[in-house]
Amino acid sequence: MHVHDVLIVGAGPCGLAMAARLREQTPSATFTDDEHQRYHWIRKHGKKMNIKNWRTQENSLPTPPSTPDTSDCGCDQHEGAAARRTDNGIDMLVLDADGADWMAKWHRLFKTFGIVHLRSPMFFHVDPSDRDALLGYAYETEREDELYALPGCVGKGISKHRKKKKRNAMGRMSQGGPEIDERDRKDYYTPSTKLFAAHCEQVSQRYSIGKEVIRHEKVMDIEYQKLANLQDAQLDALQTEDDLVEERKVFKVTTDKGVRFANIVVLAVGPGNAPSIPSIPGLEHSSAHAGYTHAMHLKQIPPPNMVSKIKMKAQTNMLIIGGGLSSVQIADLALQRGVSRVYLMMRGPLKIKYFDMDLEWVGKFRNFNQAAFWSADTDEERLEMYLEARNGGSVTPRYRKVLDGHLNTGKIVLHNFTTLESVKWNEISERWACTTSSSDICLPPIDHIVFATGVQTDIRTMPFMQSILRDHPIEIMGGFPCLTDDLMWSDEVPLFASGRLGALRLGPGAPNLVGARIGAERISWNVQDLLDKMNGRRRTSGQSEDESDGGDEELAEYAAARSNRYNSLVNAGG
Ligand SMILES: Cc1cc2nc3c(=O)[nH]c(=O)nc-3n(C[C@H](O)[C@H](O)[C@H](O)COP(=O)(O)OP(=O)(O)OC[C@H]3O[C@@H](n4cnc5c(N)ncnc54)[C@H](O)[C@@H]3O)c2cc1C
Repeated sequence: MHVHDVLIVGAGPCGLAMAARLREQTPSATFTDDEHQRYHWIRKHGKKMNIKNWRTQENSLPTPPSTPDTSDCGCDQHEGAAARRTDNGIDMLVLDADGADWMAKWHRLFKTFGIVHLRSPMFFHVDPSDRDALLGYAYETEREDELYALPGCVGKGISKHRKKKKRNAMGRMSQGGPEIDERDRKDYYTPSTKLFAAHCEQVSQRYSIGKEVIRHEKVMDIEYQKLANLQDAQLDALQTEDDLVEERKVFKVTTDKGVRFANIVVLAVGPGNAPSIPSIPGLEHSSAHAGYTHAMHLKQIPPPNMVSKIKMKAQTNMLIIGGGLSSVQIADLALQRGVSRVYLMMRGPLKIKYFDMDLEWVGKFRNFNQAAFWSADTDEERLEMYLEARNGGSVTPRYRKVLDGHLNTGKIVLHNFTTLESVKWNEISERWACTTSSSDICLPPIDHIVFATGVQTDIRTMPFMQSILRDHPIEIMGGFPCLTDDLMWSDEVPLFASGRLGALRLGPGAPNLVGARIGAERISWNVQDLLDKMNGRRRTSGQSEDESDGGDEELAEYAAARSNRYNSLVNAGG
């Protein structure tokens, strides 16, 4: 039996970002260029150069430095890739319920839904080395033609007044006018699915985190307990190997294939809960039914029970519930593949947005909003901001056009502000009779219902979290754990959560790729600190005593964005 340093649960983008970040020695992906340069400058020269503290007016060095500054900025971009590849020796393993490779679930869904471009902009990626890594990769590999421009998103800034006027005139478009400044245009392309996948592959190769670190195992239970409480056989095995003291605590992670042990666990489980279908009278939940599927469980579009009817050239009708992008993507693909008509039903209006969250959380005001989020007094406030910014499912302007095309030909019939009230399956015709909340709407017999209703996250109902919730309860708000600022379960339990589970700390971008990158950044600093404490291991293999002493705390604070960055810079000697 072996105790891993770090066990990452989930091999999606968040898990990949986390694993890559644990192998990255120079954090930079969340910095702007200026911050990046300044960070590296201080890191390289801060201990050698005399820096006057503007507050105390004290010099950082008693005498002028003996060696003059060099012109080398110390930035990893200039030092070459070799430094970034340095393996800091963290023993990590990744467990994933969907497959034994990175992003098995992501690839499956993108393939099933026929998605050829991501929804998110270029700086949403998993690479810890550089904020512009994905853009750089596109140019480096001469794949610029795989970047899709977002028309109307970027442009000359317009006044608030004009923007409001325009928005009112546009009506249904919730974000009228360009929100992104022209100078940031390079960021506001979306990468092709293939380009993004190739970049992820490159990241895993660069950091030597291939398939060998991943196991196809579903985590069923996580316990954090003293070695003394483990069963004898397990304890003996651990002691023989590591000669550990009984008081020491470890994670015991039970999977569908066995038991694993780790000092630190990182949850990168995405929504975490299984997709659930709303309870509708007449819908049988007990066993798999040929007539309906949750979108996340679709294996093919159209589903098998429609394929045979399409082959027989029969009229086929699909009902899709949900107002998100997936609904329109599934509808479009189903029509392309022979379904006669799709009925799209949503309980609210059709919302049009470029990204999953409002643009002000992505564009030029994102720092302002993010600062407001971080400085909110309570988690209730943060939850409110999170929910408001995401505000349910939405469709991109590009897919709005696709939808409009199908609406014009009558191939899609849109019923917004409508809910499905009850259904009845006809065994002979193998079709549903459906009633809705509106007496004006009369749906024809439906062959298949797809619930594109997303996945609700509630950590209280995640089966594998029950032991932790019982033994180490913390506050839960809106289904999300109230983690520490370091994204840790509590000061006593080194269980970290990235991605959607970190929503109350990371903000509205948490469930998306940007959450993967920022979450990994915050967690990794603490993982390394904790491992140093646990194992007496140096944070960086090549670091001298001097470099790893408490003087680096401010730099760590700065780089991990744990506190006010400007204060951290000042404290670090600026
Ligand atoms: C169709 C679709 C398209 C999207 N497009 C974009 C986009 O373009 N840009 C963007 O930013 N976001 C997009 N998103 C949101 C997207 O889900 C996230 O950006 C991304 O997948 C989040 O990564 P993650 O690792 O947190 O979660 P996931 O991708 O959900 O990965 C979580 C992994 O954890 C594993 N797991 C869960 N529970 C367990 C367990 N108990 N044991 C072991 N393993 C477990 C799962 O098997 C899964 O592989 C899209 C989502 C969907 C559904």
